[in-house]
Amino acid sequence: MHDVVVVGAGPTGSYAARELARLGYEVLVLEEHPEVGEPVHCTGVVGVEVYRRFDLDRGCVQAHLSGARFVSPSGQSFRVAAEQPTALVVDRRQFDRTLARQAFADGASFLLGTRADGVTITERNALVHATCLGEPVSLSASLVILATGTDDTLIRRLGLSQKASPCMFGGQLFVQNRCLHEVEIHLSPSLAPGGFAWAVPANGHGCRVGLLACRQPRHRLRKFADALEARGAIHRNGAEMTCRTIPAGPRIPSYGDRILVVGDAAGQVKSTTSGGIYYGLLGADAAVRTAHRALRTGDLAAVQLAGYQHRWLERIGSEQRFGRVLRRLHAGLSDRDMEALFWLTRRTGIARLLGRLQFDWHTAGLLKLLCRDLLGLDTSGQREAATPSGN
Ligand SMILES: Cc1cc2nc3c(=O)[nH]c(=O)nc-3n(C[C@H](O)[C@H](O)[C@H](O)COP(=O)(O)OP(=O)(O)OC[C@H]3O[C@@H](n4cnc5c(N)ncnc54)[C@H](O)[C@@H]3O)c2cc1C
Repeated sequence: MHDVVVVGAGPTGSYAARELARLGYEVLVLEEHPEVGEPVHCTGVVGVEVYRRFDLDRGCVQAHLSGARFVSPSGQSFRVAAEQPTALVVDRRQFDRTLARQAFADGASFLLGTRADGVTITERNALVHATCLGEPVSLSASLVILATGTDDTLIRRLGLSQKASPCMFGGQLFVQNRCLHEVEIHLSPSLAPGGFAWAVPANGHGCRVGLLACRQPRHRLRKFADALEARGAIHRNGAEMTCRTIPAGPRIPSYGDRILVVGDAAGQVKSTTSGGIYYGLLGADAAVRTAHRALRTGDLAAVQLAGYQHRWLERIGSEQRFGRVLRRLHAGLSDRDMEALFWLTRRTGIARLLGRLQFDWHTAGLLKLLCRDLLGLDTSGQREAATPSGN
């Protein structure tokens, strides 16, 4: 019997596996794909804070970002820039593989090409029913961590969540960069309703072109890539598009008897941008702490694991709530409204102030910008933010 079976070898699953293996637990990771890190469906932009907060390999970093150009539907634009790099572009394939390799080196075992189909919870253990290379296998563990990304099949089968969770849709293409020198964020409600489109030049001649929208990402992304290509900015070179759902908020409960759910599977993503690497790692970290305490006492009942959800929501919940408000406001805008906002931003110098925002925590910065910089209110007494401190 294993102490912990982790389902899913994305960043959150491998991180949890690594940390629990380092604590001395016997950990087994199941990954349905034959290789970790495949297929890549992510741009890999993370705030610099993720590398300060977590022990991660810097070999995956491909670029440092200190600014981006925001573009309106008609092509008006402004640049938001910071004095120091605020974000990094990582090679997602390598990022996932390095974490998995570290977990393996620290003692975790991996079964690749193995899909978990169901989990039976008993008083004495959790039985994971899986298919490994076409053969059914049953694996016993004290605790199961579900890090299955946006695939909520197991979560529904366990009865943790019955209704469909709200979600967005994201798509991406790896293309050839012709002349893009900076990140472009296109805010065009008719192109990307409720979301945005992006072009991120990264590794040498490569560029990631993506789009987030509340519906039909595929043809919208094609249209966006066509426009970039017509401008001579990129060359598509037959690049294949990957599309998938992205959670639009917390999926709770994120625990049950002998079960913890982490990462996208628990909806641990930024509500503004849908970036999920950092918040997912924060969630996985909270799960490791709860798991460690519960495994030591041998009490893995849901009531003992409930603290996990409290912990991660305390950390990112208010930021997610604020992000959802911004998202709703954004979703109600037309192209014309967006043009007016761009005009205002360019005229008033708000873009300069936006450069001061923290990459991963928008609430405090935006409130400060609104109250102090735009309305001229004294915010000196205001707590330096809802920004959580180091731990
Ligand atoms: C187009 C796009 C661009 C994005 N860009 C960014 C970005 O720039 N920055 C950012 O922070 N986030 C980004 N994201 C979001 C980011 O990719 C996710 O938040 C992140 O991958 C979540 O990590 P995870 O470990 O929770 O899940 P995943 O990375 O999805 O990993 C889940 C793993 O579980 C496996 N699995 C699932 N079910 C089973 C099963 N039953 N049995 C066995 N294995 C299973 C899957 O194969 C997968 O390997 C983007 C998402 C999209 C769609």
